Amino acid sequence: MACAFCDIIAGRRPATLVYEDERVAAFHDIHPAAPVHILVIPREHISGPDALAAGDATLAGHLIVVAGRIAQDLGIAADGYRLVLNEGRQGGQSVFHVHLHLLGGRRMSWPLG
Ligand code: AMP
Ligand code: ZN
Repeated sequence: MACAFCDIIAGRRPATLVYEDERVAAFHDIHPAAPVHILVIPREHISGPDALAAGDATLAGHLIVVAGRIAQDLGIAADGYRLVLNEGRQGGQSVFHVHLHLLGGRRMSWPLG
């Protein structure tokens, strides 16, 4: 099945990458919801948070650690930022390749809509 984020990993679709290693990649969201809006994704296709298996725990943690490093690099860590994982339609997921949103550069409201 075609997957936009697998296409980015494979270099078949353009993206503005900010970080890459052997397990994950990170790039700017095409429709930013904040001054800084980065998506951190595994290279492996996993459809969403609910599809993460026990064996993916280190990978899932790595997504968070990488997001924190990017927040530092982009200068938003001191003021704070938000990390979001959306699951399924009610959760607001629109791309079914698991991705961690890193949002910052403005004050976030709570609770979410
Ligand atoms: P979600 O709604 O949690 O599934 O988030 C999907 C995110 O992917 C949205 O914020 C989209 O703007 C973003 N997005 C979709 N296609 C692309 C793309 N080709 N490059 C970068 N970001 C994308
Ligand atoms: Zn994929």
